[in-house]
Amino acid sequence: MRKFLSKTLLAMSAAFLCCASFSATAALQVFACEPEWASLASEIGGDKVKTFSATHARQDPHYIKARPSLMSKVRKADLIVCSGADLEIGWLPLLLERAGAGVQRGMVGNLMAYEYVPLIEIPTSIDRSLGDIHPDGNPHIHLNPRNLILVGKELANRLASIDEVNAVFYETRYGQFEAKMNQAIEGWLSDGKELKGMQVITKHKSLSYLIDFFGLEEVSSLEPRPGLPPTSSHLARVLESVSSMNARAIVRAPYESDRGVDWIVSKANIKNLVVPYTVNGDDESGDLFSLFDRSLAILKSAL
Ligand SMILES: [Zn+2]
Repeated sequence: MRKFLSKTLLAMSAAFLCCASFSATAALQVFACEPEWASLASEIGGDKVKTFSATHARQDPHYIKARPSLMSKVRKADLIVCSGADLEIGWLPLLLERAGAGVQRGMVGNLMAYEYVPLIEIPTSIDRSLGDIHPDGNPHIHLNPRNLILVGKELANRLASIDEVNAVFYETRYGQFEAKMNQAIEGWLSDGKELKGMQVITKHKSLSYLIDFFGLEEVSSLEPRPGLPPTSSHLARVLESVSSMNARAIVRAPYESDRGVDWIVSKANIKNLVVPYTVNGDDESGDLFSLFDRSLAILKSAL
C-alpha cells in the first residue's frame, strides 16, 4: 500500500512538474507508437506539437524492445497515440509503467486509435498458443484513410483538452485535414477503380485495411495464422491457390521478411510487391497523403 501511495504521489508530482513547466509557447510532446500517428499529430498539431515515433517503417511494430531511450521519451509525453488492439502489447505496457499519470490508460493523454474506428477481422475464437496475435480484431487500421479522419478528430479533441489555449487552432487544422483527406480519398478511389477484385496474396494481415479500401481480394496469406511463420505444407497450399485463382501479386510491408516469397515467385507467375505500409516506408512516402499515392501506384503495377 505504502509503495502504491509513494508511486501515486510520484506520478502526481511528475504530472504537476510537467504542467507547471508547460507554457503557451512550449510545444506539446506527442509520443506516437508508429510513424502514421506521429504524422497525423503533425498534420493536426502543426508547430504546437513536437512528435516522436517509437518505431519506424522498417521495424515490426508488434515486436520492438522497450529501450531506456523510449522510456525517457514516454516519460516526457503529454499525449501518447498508438494503434492499440494489442499491436504494441509486447512493449507499450512496459513503457507505461515508467510514464506519468496523465498518459495512463483511460486518461486524456492516452489515445488508442483502434477505439475510434470500425475494426475488421475480429476473430470468433482465438488461441494464442496457435500464434494468434490479433484477438480484438486487426490493429493495422491506418491503411484505410477514412480511419485517419476518425482518429484525427479524436486527436484534435485530445490536443484541445490538454492545451486549451490552442483549442481553436487544433479544430481548424483538423477541419483542413479532413477536407484534404476526403478529397484525396475520392481521387484514390477513382484512380484505383481497376484494382477492384484484383487478387493478392499477403504476408501477414498488416495490409487488410488497404486491401479493403481498394476492393482487392486477398486469396491467401503466407502466415497460416496471424503471427505464425509459414510452414512448407502451408506454402504448398498457397502455391496451389495461386494456380487455381488469378492472384497477381504477393504484397507485404517493408518490415516483413521475404521468407517463402521467393519460393512462390519462382514457381508461379506472380509479382513480388512491397508497399510502404506507413510514412517513410519508402523514399516517396513522406506523409500520409503520399503514403496512399505510392501504395496505389505500386498496386497498379500488378495490373
Ligand atoms: Zn499484425
